[in-house]
Amino acid sequence: MDNGKLSAVRVAVREAPFRSFLGRQEPSIVQFSPQAGNSLVVDQNDYHFDHAFRSSVSQEQLYDALIQPLVDKLFCGFQCTAMAYGQTGTGKSYSMGMVTDKEPTKEEHLGVLPRCLRDILDRVAAQQENTAERTRITASFIEIYNEKAFDLLSTSPMDPMVTSRCQSRTCMPLASQQDLQRLLQLGTSNRHVRRTNMNAKSSRSHAIVTIHVWQEDGKELARMNIVDLAGSEGVRRTGHEGVARQEGVNINLGLLSINKVVMALAAGHAVIPYRDSILTTVLQESLTSQSYLTFLACISPHSCDLTETISTLRFAKSAKRLRLNPQQMNM
Ligand code: ADP
Ligand code: MG
Repeated sequence: MDNGKLSAVRVAVREAPFRSFLGRQEPSIVQFSPQAGNSLVVDQNDYHFDHAFRSSVSQEQLYDALIQPLVDKLFCGFQCTAMAYGQTGTGKSYSMGMVTDKEPTKEEHLGVLPRCLRDILDRVAAQQENTAERTRITASFIEIYNEKAFDLLSTSPMDPMVTSRCQSRTCMPLASQQDLQRLLQLGTSNRHVRRTNMNAKSSRSHAIVTIHVWQEDGKELARMNIVDLAGSEGVRRTGHEGVARQEGVNINLGLLSINKVVMALAAGHAVIPYRDSILTTVLQESLTSQSYLTFLACISPHSCDLTETISTLRFAKSAKRLRLNPQQMNM
């Protein structure tokens, strides 16, 4: 595969499996093109993306097609971000591997994060067989809740981070999958988990795990952000009022701000609106013209979710128009 040609902004869609409690009888509202692996039809509208994954796609297939090419870019010094968004219950956390189970996750269910770490650690090990260079891997874990960022690995995870210090986050060394599990467990226990009437485990916050690759001289080579966004469903379906209504507004603000930042970067504007949202503030160093950005839109097969599915696909369509043009760096 010629990764030199990888588009800087890529958009993929993944259809979730049927939720058993809603019944298996009805056909999916999503029709995939039998010929192309990147097209689908919903409600008589055609959509074309970089990839369109059916619900039968495996975690491994999704990783290999969508994320593995980013790891190549990471080791060339490019900032990389993979971001899942969509309605609650459509497999964002499952896809990104942002889950902590009491039982170890079976290999086939491993999501993006552990697979990505495995790839990165394998590369570092291979590099070190051939050179004396010592590369270090660390990771941070941040939650964004109601337009405030929380450092989930810090000793005071309940205090919002001061915006100007979003870049100085707590990092833990990652040398194994066990280290990653410990990081996820610590971070998850600190997360604000809030019930909605759609999914008892659903979270109204964005979660960002960032893997940092450090060179021997202490300089950061690049970072990979794995972002699990809060459910994008409209507030009317969550059954909350007040604070939760405000949360609903903030959830979409982050996604829209990413669009605006990338458009400003592509247009070469002098001022990039990073400060429009806390999500873009936290991701500022990774959203540059030297960045690779991958969106995974997670959608439901159920007809009762049609409105949310269309709104998720609309955002995906707008993201598909985004362009960045990273230049090969002299390293
Ligand atoms: P979200 O983060 O979008 O709210 P989850 O990732 O928590 O959704 O998924 C909801 C449930 O569906 C979880 O129990 C998850 O394990 C399961 N699930 C989602 N996608 C898949 C899939 N492709 N294969 C198997 N199980 C899945
Ligand atoms: Mg989730």
